[in-house]
Amino acid sequence: MGTALVYSEKYLQHRPGQGHPERPERLEAIVGALKRAKLWGEPNTKVIEPALAKRENIELAHDAEYIALVEKLSSFEKPLDVDTSVRKNTFELAMLAAGGAIDAGRAVLSGEASNAFALVRPPGHHAGRNRGGGFCYFNNLAVMVERLKREFKLKRIFILDIDAHHGNGSQDIFFNDPSVLYMSLHQDGRTLYPGTGFVDELGAGEGEGYTVNVPFPPGSGDAEYAGVMRELFVPLTREFKPELIAVSAGFDALADDPLTQLGLTTQAYGWLTSCVVEQANRLCGGKVVLTLEGGYALKLLADAAVNVVKVLVGQELEPPQESRRLPVIDELKKKLASYWRLEQHLKIVHTCV
Ligand SMILES: [Zn+2]
Repeated sequence: MGTALVYSEKYLQHRPGQGHPERPERLEAIVGALKRAKLWGEPNTKVIEPALAKRENIELAHDAEYIALVEKLSSFEKPLDVDTSVRKNTFELAMLAAGGAIDAGRAVLSGEASNAFALVRPPGHHAGRNRGGGFCYFNNLAVMVERLKREFKLKRIFILDIDAHHGNGSQDIFFNDPSVLYMSLHQDGRTLYPGTGFVDELGAGEGEGYTVNVPFPPGSGDAEYAGVMRELFVPLTREFKPELIAVSAGFDALADDPLTQLGLTTQAYGWLTSCVVEQANRLCGGKVVLTLEGGYALKLLADAAVNVVKVLVGQELEPPQESRRLPVIDELKKKLASYWRLEQHLKIVHTCV
């Protein structure tokens, strides 16, 4: 048991181009900081070398035509969009990133690890069923979730997406799916790419009520996140009763991130993880899997990732002193009242916030 870290040096070979923020140094900074903190390998963590995802597994989250398109663009080195260049090795490395997410999930569900963090590149949460973009090719976390659902007969998976950008790809893949509750905490789409993720995007068909978007105004930080975790995340997880909590772990909500305007501290990432682990301990035997998404301020990114892994291996981190209620909380509670009984869980005393 213990914490599994999934990583391959091959992930450093993904080079989107000169001056691109999604660069190999991001993972080098994280791995270096984990080594210095003695969190890399025995006795504290187990490092797993990932296997390439099988095409049939990628097809669980993406259309076959889209997968073929990424493969073709790779051979011609044609970009997916202006921010998302494609090189000869992109197709294979995107398959390896999805494979890393699957291996992290499998380690936890098989009981080989109590929780896991897939330290993968390229990231995935902007990749939808038939499109990529925003530095993403295949949706690593979605591929993992779809694979685990089948392999371990899971009926309820909670996804918490804490990347500063809305995970429009993940939302697209699970929009009609009541077996996956997708909750995204992100900077307001009126002020940031991809311009989606508003409170009235709630899912459709059988999946109505299973998509929850929390847009934060620019400048929001630890206190605002604390309010949302206490008043929305905790009651939602208790109502949904997941068998696994999967986290799209983007570190670009950190203050100083060059692409966004949020203000989380590195400690907040540890505390957010504590909150997730606490609910997972209560609801699903502690089963938590994280996959790396964005995060572009190298030093802070590495420190925050260390805090996340410290919590995964069992250290506790204090919640922020202050909790501030954003108006969006009441707005969402009103909308979610048709689907979820959130109020009853607010009476419970939470230690996580
Ligand atoms: Zn992002």
